[in-house]
Amino acid sequence: MRITVLAGGVGGARFLQGVRAYAAGLPGSEITAIINTGDDVTMHGLRICPDLDSVMYTLAGAVDTERGWGREGESWRIMDELTEYGAEPTWFSLGDLDIATHLVRTQMLAAGYPLSDVTAALCQRWQTGVRMLPMTDERCETHVVIADHGSRRAIHFQEWWVRHRAGIPALEFVQVGLESARPAAGVVAAIEEADLVLIAPSNPVVSINTILNVPGIGQALRGGPAPVVGLSPIIGDAPVRGMADACLPVLGVQTSAAGVAGLYGARSAGGVLDGWLIHTGDTAELPGIAVLARDLLMTSAEATAAMVADAVRLAGR
Ligand code: GDP
Ligand code: CA
Repeated sequence: MRITVLAGGVGGARFLQGVRAYAAGLPGSEITAIINTGDDVTMHGLRICPDLDSVMYTLAGAVDTERGWGREGESWRIMDELTEYGAEPTWFSLGDLDIATHLVRTQMLAAGYPLSDVTAALCQRWQTGVRMLPMTDERCETHVVIADHGSRRAIHFQEWWVRHRAGIPALEFVQVGLESARPAAGVVAAIEEADLVLIAPSNPVVSINTILNVPGIGQALRGGPAPVVGLSPIIGDAPVRGMADACLPVLGVQTSAAGVAGLYGARSAGGVLDGWLIHTGDTAELPGIAVLARDLLMTSAEATAAMVADAVRLAGR
């Protein structure tokens, strides 16, 4: 079975652990992850891809499980030195071990390799068991439009999310470079040749919608032969972790499993979903979308694998 997954960072990584556990019982299965790169940013001259790295470190068992991101056993000596120099930004933490990843990436990109090749090269070391593809090889960075003394100003998503902890009201999300962005090599094929496409319970606005907006990706999902099943990142009226509730209202979407399903839409009505998994007790009724309610807390890879098994069953309906 070929499973293709659309994923953001931390939530996407946890979900992929479950997909991998599910596929371990199916010899010959292949997992491809199409990962959000809208969070990518250049700082201190280093190209940083937070979602790709969260997925890579997590699947490799090298993530700091308490923090949820970055490397286990990390140290911060370079960051301390940069701070001593007053080198901005000081609000974005970069660990010493993590910096090695960014150095290799930045060097390879400067030598002309596309991000998809760079990602494959980094994964050579980590053996994640999942083929990881960036959504695009082009720069397509999410910016947040905020009000600033009566005018509008766009700041990088990381500045809004990490520095301001999403505390400044967002007027709009803009993906800079979107018009000229194309799906990275292998992305469209991974959708068209999949037996099943899964949408991870990642941030629906700044992870999943960002991927869907890349010209060609949404179209491939809408027109592809494989069923598409998503999992809700919202339980009750709040995201399970993180600040996704700061993003949905910006698009005029209610923070609920039903709201997110409406945002993605039914494939039969020009959207991307055939099936939608929601948490027990939640409701979502949308014409054209098969809905199943079950426990959606990713407490272990095994628990998440059981969600994937239910997604497979839902896809077969
Ligand atoms: P980020 O890029 O690191 O912010 O991570 P993602 O976009 O991949 O995932 C963030 C989303 O994961 C948040 O909106 C959370 O609500 C969701 N999430 C985290 N843990 C769980 C879980 O156990 N179950 C579900 N259903 N969603 C989760
Ligand atoms: Ca992210």
